[in-house]
This record gives sequence, C-alpha cells and structure tokens, in this order.
Amino acid sequence: MSLAEFALIERIRARSKGRDDIVLGIGDDAALLQPLAGHWLAVTADTLNSGVHFPAETRPADIGWKTLAVNLSDLAAMGATPAWGTLALSLPSAEAEWIDAFADGFFALADAHDWRLIGGDTTRGPLSLSVTAFGQVPHGQALRRDGAQAGDDVWVSGTLGDAAGALQLWKRGELDVTRITPDPTIEFLRQRLLRPTPRIALGLALRGSASAAVDVSDGLLADLGHIAESSDVAVRVDVTQIPLSVPLRRALGDDGALRCALHGGDDYELCFTAPRSLRTTLGSLSRGVSPPLTLIGAVSTGTGVHCEGYSGPRGYEHFS
Ligand code: ADP
Ligand code: MG
Repeated sequence: MSLAEFALIERIRARSKGRDDIVLGIGDDAALLQPLAGHWLAVTADTLNSGVHFPAETRPADIGWKTLAVNLSDLAAMGATPAWGTLALSLPSAEAEWIDAFADGFFALADAHDWRLIGGDTTRGPLSLSVTAFGQVPHGQALRRDGAQAGDDVWVSGTLGDAAGALQLWKRGELDVTRITPDPTIEFLRQRLLRPTPRIALGLALRGSASAAVDVSDGLLADLGHIAESSDVAVRVDVTQIPLSVPLRRALGDDGALRCALHGGDDYELCFTAPRSLRTTLGSLSRGVSPPLTLIGAVSTGTGVHCEGYSGPRGYEHFS
C-alpha cells in the first residue's frame, strides 16, 4: 500500500508518545519544548544513506533502530540524557509495510530511552534517514573531547571491531544482513552491525569522572585522534589490551580482529579518559550500566595516537 505524505506522517505520529516537557509535538509548523532548568541542550545530527551507511538490502526495522542508535550514541558520548528529536526521511516510495517495520525498530529504541519524536520532514528521493537528537546535561557536566590530561588513563567499553568484522563478512558473501542465522558467531557479529547499543547509562555514570569522551563511530584510532587533537595531548594505546570478542577472533583471526578494532567504525562503544586516581572506582561505577570497561592506554604530553605492543605488520606502530 502506497501512502500519501500526510498519511505517512500520521502513521509515524501515531507511534510517538508524549512527555510532560513537550508543549506541542508533531503536527504544527514547529514543536515547542520546555527544557530543564539548569541544563544545557546537547544537539547532534547524523544521516544514514542507503548503500553508503548500510547495505541496501538491510531490513527496515534494523534501519530504524540504527538511525536512532547512532544519534543516541552521540548524546551518550556527551553525558547527556536523551530527550527529543526530529526525523527527516527521504523515501523512494511510501509503503505502509516499510514505514511500520521502520517504526518498529526506531520506536523500540526511542521508548527504551524515553526519547520522543517531536517532528521531522518527509520527501521523495533515494532512501536516506536523518535524525537530529536533543539531550539534556546539567550545566558544566558535559563530556567533551577537549579535557584529557597527561597522566590520564584511556578506557573503552565493550568490545571493538565487531561491526566492521560483520561488514567484511557481508562483503565476502559470508553474512546475510537480512536474516537471523543459526551460527552464533555470525549472528553475534550481525547484531553488532545492525543493532548497536548506545551506551547512554555509561555516559551518565561518567559525568564528573571522565576527562574526555567520544563514541567509537569512525574507528578507535580515528576517534582517539579527535581526543588527542582537541585536548592537545598524545594518546598511547597498548594494542595487546584492546578488547576483542570471541566471535570476531573466531571469524577473522587475531590479526584480522585487531585490524577491525583499530580501524573499523560503527561500534558505538564509548572511549574515554579519566584520572588514574579513579582506576579502582571506575569498575564499580560502571557495573550494571555497561559492558565491562577495559583500560587500553594512557595520555601523555605530545601529539597524535601511538600504538604499542603490536608485533604484526607495520603501520599500526605510529598513527598520528
Ligand atoms: P511544514 O510543511 O510546515 O514543514 P510538514 O507538512 O512537512 O510541515 O509536516 C507536518 C508535521 O509533521 C510537522 O509537525 C512535522 O514536524 C511533522 N513531520 C513531517 N515529517 C515527519 C517525520 N518523518 N517524522 C516525524 N514528524 C514529521
Ligand atoms: Mg510549516
């Protein structure tokens, strides 16, 4: 069934819930919001284009989840509580089945974080999805990229490289993004690619503790490069400490897994720096709100990102 634009918007509106701080939601020329007193608004936008940011055959529910997940991950990396946002859709055609499945994935994640859709735009064109997400963070408590200090530890949540590994397997024809597979190794990697988990609770727990933070969207070395540059420090990474999942090592071998972890994007884990004095407390702080945290390096004076402890091919030894 093909929908007229207003019917399509109505289908999306019907799925979005209210919130006390939404004065006016979807339906007028603009939404009206009442931000919390004493808070800053954290604002981020990310676009996913079909065939560029996800394989064109990706199921709409997975596209819906990921479209929002990449944006909520940016809010997590700022230590912000997700609040509201908009959705700009460019669709080649307006099929009710596609919209409903997209909404299933999108609102499953939105509802889990009390994030509310308060507007958007709908146009005809190549499949492209763009979210602008707003979060709130108490004055002065945002996690920025520019606060790392020489002597700080470097930490990362969860495991790295899984999404890039999944993409590699997909390119080789060894992973089908469109269906669940009984092979637990492949299925784990598939989920990591299609259903990334924004580390919201961890971002909130790190307020007041982390000196700098980013989410790992472009690859560990690239994203750590942002911290190094913004903070005007050097970052040393002990590659023997980088957390790799068992499925990733099984699928790609140790070298292939490490390569994905260092250079692959789309993991949406949090990478952050924190004073050494917090080393013991960070473990208990994060318990229950994130996958395990791993200490992977240290901040020093200087510039760039430097890898230590890698005995494989050259190229990882120095990265700046
Ligand atoms: P306008 O022409 O005034 O910009 P539209 O007709 O584009 O308004 O949209 C009508 C209402 O529907 C607006 O409140 C807008 O924010 C909302 N809207 C449009 N597209 C979407 C979408 N994809 N998701 C959520 N809300 C949308
Ligand atoms: Mg208008």
